[in-house]
Amino acid sequence: MPYISGKKLLDHAYQNGYAVGAFSAHNVETLQAILGAAEEEQSPVMVMIGQKVIQHIGLKPMKEMIDIFIKNISVPVAVHLDHSRQFEQTMEAVQAGFQSVMFDGSGLPFEENVSITKKVAEIARALNIGCEGEIGKIGGTEDDITVAEEDAMLTTVEEAYAFATAAEVDYLAVSIGTAHGIYKRPPKLAIERLKDISEKVNRPIVLHGGSDVPDGQIKLAILNGVAKINVDTELRQAFTRGIQATYAENPEEYHLAVSLGHAREEMKFKVKEKINLFGSAGKAEEFLSKKVVTL
Ligand SMILES: [Zn+2]
Repeated sequence: MPYISGKKLLDHAYQNGYAVGAFSAHNVETLQAILGAAEEEQSPVMVMIGQKVIQHIGLKPMKEMIDIFIKNISVPVAVHLDHSRQFEQTMEAVQAGFQSVMFDGSGLPFEENVSITKKVAEIARALNIGCEGEIGKIGGTEDDITVAEEDAMLTTVEEAYAFATAAEVDYLAVSIGTAHGIYKRPPKLAIERLKDISEKVNRPIVLHGGSDVPDGQIKLAILNGVAKINVDTELRQAFTRGIQATYAENPEEYHLAVSLGHAREEMKFKVKEKINLFGSAGKAEEFLSKKVVTL
């Protein structure tokens, strides 16, 4: 199986000036869209499991489904737990064989965020997988939790450094002007701040809310330390539009394979577009040539 530690994936990306896409899977077809796009582009990839799909399908069933569909895949893949707000859930993911876990204590007081994230990071390190932490509030709505945009303050260099070193996370999510969900106006990333944070914390930076950020800003973000970009909303939109187009053409199309198949193609196209934008296309073979040990 091509599973690889999230830390190995992102360290390589960080050192080589590209970013790995972390794409959310919601069912079989969205998973196939992600894996199929990564395979065709020969790109390393992260399959992201978020809180909504955990409520809807379950953490273990999703992981077991990925285990099945990954069998014919040759590129390195890390399954990542997104925005966990419970220590217990991060441990469930570890037990289920995830290669990357995020504990999001950004809504907690600093010390509490550090102490729980540090525990998760220690266990992840012992098991040779990756751990993500978050400092600063990212705006928008994710998993039914809304952060008002005026509350979404930029992460300071000092707090990013203090948090990353105290919690010993492998990669760090910061607030630099993106938001979750759909933007009311195009976001403007705080690139200077990102550069300063990245230089100080000296580890891969994670960009949340990667949907609909203008391409030029994504490229600047990657040049300045972002090595993981989360994309969900834009992919769900592509998938949904595929279904809508099917029924616009034939309202009596009752074969789900037709509508979901169309949706899968639309989403795969979008994932491929992101992989090319992030610069990870063709990078899979570097993991093989460098004989990076996979889990
Ligand atoms: Zn996020």
